[in-house]
Amino acid sequence: MDITRDTPLTSFPGVGEARAKKLEKLGLSSAGDLLTWYPRDYEDRRKVYSIRDAPLEGRVCISAMAAEHPRLARIRKGLELVQVKVVDHTGALHLTFFNQGYVERAIRAGEDYIFYGTVEEQGRRRTMVNPIFERVGKQSFTGCIMPVYRLTAGISNHLLASLVRQALPCAAQFPETLPQSVRQEHSLAAAEFSLKNIHFPKDEKALELARRRLAFEELFYLAAGFSFLKSRRSQGGEGVSIPPCSKAEFLSLLPFVPTAAQSRVMDEVAADMASGKPMNRLVQGDVGSGKTAVAAYAGWLCAQGGCQAALMAPTEVLAEQHFKSLSALLAPAGVRVGLLTGSLTAAEKKKVRAALAEGEIDFAVGTHALISAGVAFRRLALIVADEQHRFGVAQRAALASKSGEGTSPHVLVMSATPIPRTLALIIYGDLDVSVIDQLPPGRTPIETYVVREDKRQRMYGFVRKQVAEGRQVYIICPAVEENPDAALPGEESPILNLKAVKTYAEKLQKEVFPDLRLGILHGKMKPREKEAAMAAFTCGETQVLVATTVVEVGVDVPNASLIIIENADRFGLSQLHQLRGRVGRGQHPSHCVLITSTRSREAMERLHTLASTTDGFQISEEDLKARGPGDFFGNRQHGLPQMKLADLAGDMRLLSQAQEAARSLLDRDPQLIQPENRPVWERVRRLFADTPDIFN
Ligand code: ADP
Ligand code: MG
Repeated sequence: MDITRDTPLTSFPGVGEARAKKLEKLGLSSAGDLLTWYPRDYEDRRKVYSIRDAPLEGRVCISAMAAEHPRLARIRKGLELVQVKVVDHTGALHLTFFNQGYVERAIRAGEDYIFYGTVEEQGRRRTMVNPIFERVGKQSFTGCIMPVYRLTAGISNHLLASLVRQALPCAAQFPETLPQSVRQEHSLAAAEFSLKNIHFPKDEKALELARRRLAFEELFYLAAGFSFLKSRRSQGGEGVSIPPCSKAEFLSLLPFVPTAAQSRVMDEVAADMASGKPMNRLVQGDVGSGKTAVAAYAGWLCAQGGCQAALMAPTEVLAEQHFKSLSALLAPAGVRVGLLTGSLTAAEKKKVRAALAEGEIDFAVGTHALISAGVAFRRLALIVADEQHRFGVAQRAALASKSGEGTSPHVLVMSATPIPRTLALIIYGDLDVSVIDQLPPGRTPIETYVVREDKRQRMYGFVRKQVAEGRQVYIICPAVEENPDAALPGEESPILNLKAVKTYAEKLQKEVFPDLRLGILHGKMKPREKEAAMAAFTCGETQVLVATTVVEVGVDVPNASLIIIENADRFGLSQLHQLRGRVGRGQHPSHCVLITSTRSREAMERLHTLASTTDGFQISEEDLKARGPGDFFGNRQHGLPQMKLADLAGDMRLLSQAQEAARSLLDRDPQLIQPENRPVWERVRRLFADTPDIFN
């Protein structure tokens, strides 16, 4: 069979309808797909041992001759056993195969084989169970570096590897997509070589060359995409020039004196907005560092300049909270603040929309409903996106079209998730960055404890004590309802004891805190119910709020001094850090209890990391290492294409090289119109195909 990139997997021997369906689940339907299904790991099967010298640890290859004809025995119905003794000049090895009857005929006395498996010792007898075996001289999966693939049920690594091996010849049909100049400058291997050697490398060196080239390629296209975006933006329209205004006047509205860091960032923002170029600024500041004040200042400046500003929050709870605090702050200065969320009635929405179009609202606060089609502003000059990690490149690009009149709005992105430097370079490559690296004075650091189930009663006692002192408490659960289907694949125990908000809150109220006022809050509640629950907690009516992570971002109740996180091992570190940031926002000493029954040592270590530091950057680096970039950007909706090979936590140097290469290519050919750069343009387009706003 002549294999081309497009050869369907169903034409491979051994792949019928059923297997094809399973492979499809992995996104594999043609030979070409197989080649870009990179291994997740490798097993070194190159070293071949003699029977005596083979180590007892791990799987090894042993070369030996079958000393007899295999013996087949049926132990009972459904259990077949094949046994055979193999020998070399150092001794004998006793092989047992369970339910692989074909082995009786596959192994022939007197022939030499390579057996791959784990050697065990029973007394002086050496044994191996269910080894993989191949005839000497006809090896494809022994004596080599063996790829290990991500799999799905019903597809074994062996099957996948053999399919990939058959598909290897079509590597020649993959076009070379990296420009010659770039390959030369960075000593990158050719596409064909890399596609072959990423699967079946001759040696470590070949593997490293292949990996480096393919990872470079991924990063290169990503970087090219972002550079392209940035250059387009800087050429793109004028920004509305917002004249500078008396800062003191704004500061007199604030109930506190800004920190030096806040003050500095305010100046940076004001300078950007006065410059006549559209601002594209990211404000990074740890939870509680006071980013809202910066947003308020920017909005106030806009209003003073006769323009409109819009602030977008990732959740309704947060939008409502921002609406309240910004109204309270800015209304006395004559700024008209409005709220637009999905939960308003149709009539209310219509009214707010009309007011925005008429320019009767100066500062609009809302969720993504704010940028939905049909919302028109009279003179929108500023968009603030709170909690950027939920608000990706695509959304930002969509905003650029909102201003009208040939001007682009200023964009201010606020994030409390400290982004590891590697990721920041990629995702924020097109933004200027300000950092609020200082917390308001008078905060006492949050004490964090990791506890196990045996301390549960003591923990409840602690809740009681806090409430008795007039404080409030959050209890965070990983689930809303008890749902056995929610078990993660590979979960130790299918019987879940994940705490679920509804049942747990009922139980707490009945059995543990009958005398306390408990409330619940989760994402499945109706918007009005959520609002009411949040309001009751904010004003202190609710003493203990049992909630999901809907309170994760931005919620600000300074009187809350204790947060308990159930099944803490279920959350990412950055997420825990965010949750922890819900307390310690006032002057009260605050505490965070991470309760877990995990048996994983790794999980415990991660929780202890969190307990030992409050440095958001350090925490996010740990998170990136442990869980990959997915946690930061979720999925492709956030504008960050999937990286298959590039390790965003580890390929820092490669990334900067790729970035450098992309930049210099774009310097030479900003529109990517040179024939030799067309493939780059095509690839970048395809990479961002899910975010069409960027490249049309
Ligand atoms: P975040 O950066 O997490 O969004 P917020 O803007 O919500 O932080 O501020 C956290 C809390 O700190 C709020 O209650 C806010 O009023 C208060 N705050 C902000 N800046 C200061 C300051 N300079 N001095 C005292 N309190 C401040
Ligand atoms: Mg905030």
